[in-house]
Amino acid sequence: MTLELNTSQAAVSCFDQPGQLSVEQGRQALLDAVDAAAKPQIIQQPIAELAGCVLAEDVISPINVPAQTNAAMDGFALALPEDGREVFESEYELVGKALAGHGFAGELKTGQAVTITTGAPVPAGANSVVMREICQSGDNRVVIEKPESLRLNDNIRQAGEDLATGQIAVKAGTRLTPAHQGLIASLGLTEVAVFKPLVVAVFSTGDEVVAQGQPLPAHSIYDTNRYSLIALLKKLHCDVIDLGILPDQEAVLAKTLAESAVKADVVVSSGGVSVGVADYIKTALAQVGEIGFWRMNIRPGRPFAFGRIGKDLINNPSGSAWFFGLPGNPVAVMVTFMQLAQPALRKLQGETGWQLQGIPALAGEKMRSREGRTDFHRGIFGFNSDGQLEVRTTGTQGSGILRSMTEANCLIEIGDAHAAIAPGDTVNIYPFADLL
Ligand code: AMP
Ligand code: MG
Repeated sequence: MTLELNTSQAAVSCFDQPGQLSVEQGRQALLDAVDAAAKPQIIQQPIAELAGCVLAEDVISPINVPAQTNAAMDGFALALPEDGREVFESEYELVGKALAGHGFAGELKTGQAVTITTGAPVPAGANSVVMREICQSGDNRVVIEKPESLRLNDNIRQAGEDLATGQIAVKAGTRLTPAHQGLIASLGLTEVAVFKPLVVAVFSTGDEVVAQGQPLPAHSIYDTNRYSLIALLKKLHCDVIDLGILPDQEAVLAKTLAESAVKADVVVSSGGVSVGVADYIKTALAQVGEIGFWRMNIRPGRPFAFGRIGKDLINNPSGSAWFFGLPGNPVAVMVTFMQLAQPALRKLQGETGWQLQGIPALAGEKMRSREGRTDFHRGIFGFNSDGQLEVRTTGTQGSGILRSMTEANCLIEIGDAHAAIAPGDTVNIYPFADLL
């Protein structure tokens, strides 16, 4: 599958970004750039496999939920007089049973009652349900212990109270959770329209990067990024193509980029984007596509490239893909994925209404940064003894220290305006819960 570009908007602004971008500008430029892409294809997905998918069309309820007016608890359905009185009799004539799945066929007259179970349809004529615990029942009568607690319409779920026929049950663009899955199932639907998963090709770069199972020569490092990236992409419900490790050779990189753009909607790489002598990603991309921007004031993650593969998007859209060139450092990879790539990927997936959730927390210690740059420290948040949300760092914050990510439960953001954070200052945190 390939992304179709709306060619009238193809010259998007991120491709002429001057100078350095703040994280916020960078994130927005990415979102604006992918705006030019048409929505992904739509497929019908069985309800058992909906979690994580993005809904493509509104789900309209074909039925009332609940379908019938029913009891909210086990007890007795009563036919109370509707003559304006506020206090009711204590004794009722017991005339039958309404069980879940088996209704009471007759109609109750004022003063009559039936035994009822949770979810069973409330019989015609009944207008209140009273819980079993406050009743005494004999063969053909039921006595309410505190009749003054009786109210018309108590403990009755009205038909269509949750959803009425024709109402929107779930909006298009929603990322479906187990709760949506249950709701859609409750409507009796067997499948719904979702966006086809994005196909994302992933590779690592670097002559020093070695695959697991191989011996580790001097000056080498086992490939870390491909595994965290693939796992992150799968959590985002993408279909992943694993392209392995590529050497620091411009020609190989250019060929791989061009080939992968035919198969994938998005290509994500790590490493090779800084200005070191062996950093070829940018020059390779310039050969087969267009580089968007790479100068961003973020730490970790400063070398970050964005662009698209496929020069002739108008005449040859099938050879095009968005490109995210993440840094090489394992922590920087995860930080830039979460903060920069994730919002754009979710948009490409057709998801709407999603945003990064920064939550204010008190800094539990001093934290360093620099004005004009956004730092993301790895943090551990929790409640302090005063019951306030407080966050501390995991300690040393080198961008190669992946252990800091495993110990953390959030990122701590120190924005452009701050050179440092003092204990007790407020910082924004981004809990990992939604992705990691
Ligand atoms: P680069 O941007 O290619 O210069 O990489 C920056 C740092 O990240 C270097 O120390 C690399 O060895 C390291 N690095 C790059 N790719 C990977 C990878 N796939 N797994 C682990 N470390 C990596
Ligand atoms: Mg490298």
